[in-house]
Amino acid sequence: AAKKSGKGRIAYCSGKMKAAVLEKMTLTTSLHQALAKGELLLHYQPQICASTLEINGFEALLRWQHPERGLISPEVFIPLAEQSGLISGIGEWVLKTACAQNKLWQDQGYKPVRMGVNLSVEQFRSSNLERIIKNCLAETGLKPQYLELEITEGVAMRSSQYVIRQLQALKKLGLDLSIDDFGTAFSSMNRLKNLPVDRIKIDRQFVWGIGVKPRDEVLVTVMIDLARELGLAVTAEGVETAEQLAFLQTQGCDEIQGFYFSKPVSAAAIETEIYARQFAGIN
Ligand code: C2E
Ligand code: MG
Ligand code: MG
Ligand code: MG
Repeated sequence: AAKKSGKGRIAYCSGKMKAAVLEKMTLTTSLHQALAKGELLLHYQPQICASTLEINGFEALLRWQHPERGLISPEVFIPLAEQSGLISGIGEWVLKTACAQNKLWQDQGYKPVRMGVNLSVEQFRSSNLERIIKNCLAETGLKPQYLELEITEGVAMRSSQYVIRQLQALKKLGLDLSIDDFGTAFSSMNRLKNLPVDRIKIDRQFVWGIGVKPRDEVLVTVMIDLARELGLAVTAEGVETAEQLAFLQTQGCDEIQGFYFSKPVSAAAIETEIYARQFAGIN
């Protein structure tokens, strides 16, 4: 007879499941060396003022250039990094690299703007986070007002005093905090009101629905109004079309981010394409 749980369980894995587990293990093993081997890199996606179309900031988005498999998405390897404890080292590298890049652009004479960095739930849980960020700012010389930390709604809305204390400690450093993927975690407005954050970023699934699903349009409108009522800035993620942009402008959304303006690209491409385009007055 078949065992119901424990060690026997693996016997019931289908070939496909086994292959998936093996695949995860293999990727995790090579992820251990990815940082040291210089296989991790950051791409940057501009965040654009919805009314003037000027660059307000960038979001740093992690990429893994795997020697055999090519570019691997963070949706694939961030969970592996979290499960294997590698995220703290990787996250610290992301913070430092993104802050250093932003400082470099400022030193090169570009208009000072924010740099958004995504924080994993594991990093956010760590009691070292405040110290790590302080060190990062000191080492790179970036002023705190030009760093924005993005915490997903799922993390921010966990009802614990710890979350609020951690956010308050980060706010005290003088940086900006935003709630990423807003709208996906069904948080109560009451909780949002109590969090010391500066911005919400409307998840791209709702932006996608503009012009397609009237219900999504209503939700986007409500989220923008909510942000305004609470005195928060609001960024719409995943803006791909002129129609979406026009709708967001009409609703009074502050900022847009998405393929309509630019995909996430390398730092070099930001300089040669994005900034060059802006200086040429094309936008
Ligand atoms: P996110 O923070 O919500 O980032 C936005 C994602 O939407 C990015 O995916 C970006 O490439 C994508 N995107 C932007 N504009 C558009 C658009 O117009 N259309 C579509 N279809 N997609 C768009 P990406 O770079 O694959 O990152 C996925 C997620 O991985 C991020 O979602 C974030 O949660 C996580 N991530 C990325 N970098 C880091 C990191 O350094 N640390 C941590 N902890 N997580 C990261
Ligand atoms: Mg983000
Ligand atoms: Mg998001
Ligand atoms: Mg996301």
